[in-house]
Amino acid sequence: MKYDLHSHTTASDGELSPNALIARARNGDVDVLAITDHDTLAAYREIDRSALGALTLIPGTELSSQWQKNNVHIVGLNVPLECGAFADAIASQQRSRIERASIIADKLAKKGFTDILPGVLEKAGKGSIGRPHFAQQLLEIGAVKSLEEAFKKYLGTGKIGDVKQIWPQLDEVVGWIRDAGGTAVLAHPDKYRLTRSKLHRLTDDFISAGGEAIEVVSGKQDKVRTRELAKLCIEKNLLASCGSDFHQPGKFWAELGQHSPLPEECTPVWDRW
Ligand code: AMP
Ligand code: MN
Ligand code: MN
Ligand code: MN
Repeated sequence: MKYDLHSHTTASDGELSPNALIARARNGDVDVLAITDHDTLAAYREIDRSALGALTLIPGTELSSQWQKNNVHIVGLNVPLECGAFADAIASQQRSRIERASIIADKLAKKGFTDILPGVLEKAGKGSIGRPHFAQQLLEIGAVKSLEEAFKKYLGTGKIGDVKQIWPQLDEVVGWIRDAGGTAVLAHPDKYRLTRSKLHRLTDDFISAGGEAIEVVSGKQDKVRTRELAKLCIEKNLLASCGSDFHQPGKFWAELGQHSPLPEECTPVWDRW
């Protein structure tokens, strides 16, 4: 069975519509898929259930949080699609994204990129508005030569467009998922560029808040690193998750269903389901 428990669609910063993502997952022999758009469950409202075939869908979302000045992502799996409290939490994240977008636009205006917000909003469409939409707009107006450059100069960690104070604390976000009966998963631990001891502290705080699983595998990853993360997972008595973090076709390291295998010594998060 092939599980891909981390992916994005046009409901956030992904390139494919939810139905196109499902078609691609089926072509890629994925058996179980979680669509985990940033701070939204909107993709699930667009899905044509009759086109799922043998594919099992796990309701999910990737929530933004703050931990010691870091922007940490928590994937919620098996979250309820219709639940008052969880829907309220998602709605507040959406408001934060809109508020953050105008803060980022003001900051970029000070760099000489005025009136950038309308184009950004257009690119986000009905989806969750995020930094990749700013990167696309900066590219369109010729401020940068690539999306990568937009992150490197203006939007990436520590740059002016990296506004993270807006996000709720990690324990609150984990609490939303847990209270809604979902499983909280610490997403892509390598993306935060933490030292070994800081990653251990993050993991401990995540567990104290009610977190249950960690992405031992995120996309195609180095074998040595996978072994280290498996060790952390086992040491902390966590369940293991895996996913591609697919956003768009053409990125071999983050292709749907093409992530590295989960080490056998880990207990997969789906053992519980
Ligand atoms: P946001 O959710 O608005 O905070 O933006 C974070 C998203 O930006 C991530 O989920 C990635 O999809 C994307 N991203 C982050 N860093 C980079 C980068 N260096 N180059 C391209 N995309 C990036
Ligand atoms: Mn993203
Ligand atoms: Mn993420
Ligand atoms: Mn993601």
